[in-house]
Amino acid sequence: MDQNKIEKAEILCVGTEILLGDIVNTDAVFLSRRLAKLGISVYRQSVVGDNVGRLKDILAEIFSRSDTVIISGGLGPTCDDLTKETVAEFFGVGMRTDADSLRRMREYFAATGRQMTKNNEKQAEIPIGATVLTNYNGTAPGIIIEGQGNLTGKTAILLPGPPAELEPMFDESVLPYLRSRCENTIVSRNINIMGMGESAIEEKLRSLMNESSNPTIAPYAKSGEVRLRVSAYAHTESEALKMCNDMIEKVKATEVGRFIYGIDVSSVENALLKALKEKGLTFACAESCTGGLIAKRITDIPGSSSVFVGGAVTYTELSKNRLANVSEATLAQHTAVSDKTAAEMARGIRQALSADIAVSTTGFAGPDGGTEQDPVGTVYIAVSTPDGEMTERLSLSSKRDRKYIREVASSRAILLALKRCLGSDEKTFPQKLSKTLGK
Ligand code: ATP
Ligand code: MG
Repeated sequence: MDQNKIEKAEILCVGTEILLGDIVNTDAVFLSRRLAKLGISVYRQSVVGDNVGRLKDILAEIFSRSDTVIISGGLGPTCDDLTKETVAEFFGVGMRTDADSLRRMREYFAATGRQMTKNNEKQAEIPIGATVLTNYNGTAPGIIIEGQGNLTGKTAILLPGPPAELEPMFDESVLPYLRSRCENTIVSRNINIMGMGESAIEEKLRSLMNESSNPTIAPYAKSGEVRLRVSAYAHTESEALKMCNDMIEKVKATEVGRFIYGIDVSSVENALLKALKEKGLTFACAESCTGGLIAKRITDIPGSSSVFVGGAVTYTELSKNRLANVSEATLAQHTAVSDKTAAEMARGIRQALSADIAVSTTGFAGPDGGTEQDPVGTVYIAVSTPDGEMTERLSLSSKRDRKYIREVASSRAILLALKRCLGSDEKTFPQKLSKTLGK
């Protein structure tokens, strides 16, 4: 048998239900993701109804372009399940009954207390010469057919349609098979960036992006931050990983470098939580314009109670004074939206809750409000530790909506806390920070 290497493949999902929009084609999504990880390019995804003629037509079309197809659906016992017979006919092979599959099926029915009918036996019929993939989660086995004669080098992999059967079967049986026939593997890593926009990042990295097609670098904007996805192909996973890591170092050496806050971090709040746990520090917050969003994002993460002490939504001058100990003089002199107020809020809540680090936000989320010096989109953020307070004035466009301003302000506050926690703010923090209060 010619074991040619698989570099590209197609996915074919069989089922009139998919064409009618009755079910969502999640099998195609799953298969595409798995193939991408293996370094196999997916050239096309197709869907065809339960119809012999159209299935044969599309098989001919697929094999005119590609050597490998992964087919899902239509392996069941009913008369509309015709994938196996049609593919066998296409490959010009007859059927045999697979004793092992038949025995398994009998056991499966006995174990689930159901009656096995005559048409179930059809599922143990296997194209002659094909490899059988055991179905541990259902009855229809999967099948690998490798073509002979004028179809030499062509491979069809047939899998049951239900995701609960297809997905484990793919991981248990198809993955090792494809791996043994694969040249490449793909590794991807994500660089987390905050404080620089997607287009600015693209501009700074343009030459790096243009000169490298492997690894590739692609930016994705995601609520106030940008992720740079670095993907490399190589013969082995460790080689691909090394290529990704080398590229990450190159990105770090550019102007984008100082805006990187993590690698493969799922979110900035996760990064903060991890850092707090590692350092054994506790965290608190006093929020005005973010209205509890920081506390929500932190407490969305299971296990946050070991580091998050609590916080207060101090939305008025009264609550800023009573709950976060902001002095009346500061409020009168500097107003509620000012760096002094932010600093006192952070210090006040930290001291009230005996936390190691606290953050605060106060600003104008709009659409109304704001002043000439501090228009809508201005948010003062402070971080307090026993060493003192640092503040930042965040200046977002007043055209941004309230939701965006609040989200970005909360992300920024969490990031400032993270930097402070890691002790890296003064050296690496991109925007100017100033100590506004003494010890
Ligand atoms: P069965 O033995 O259950 O009949 P089968 O291999 O014959 O399995 P189908 O009859 O085509 O598969 O589909 C059975 C069920 O599997 C569908 O009703 C649907 O719930 C699910 N399914 C089929 N194809 C897909 C798909 N492409 N994406 C997601 N789910 C699917
Ligand atoms: Mg079926």
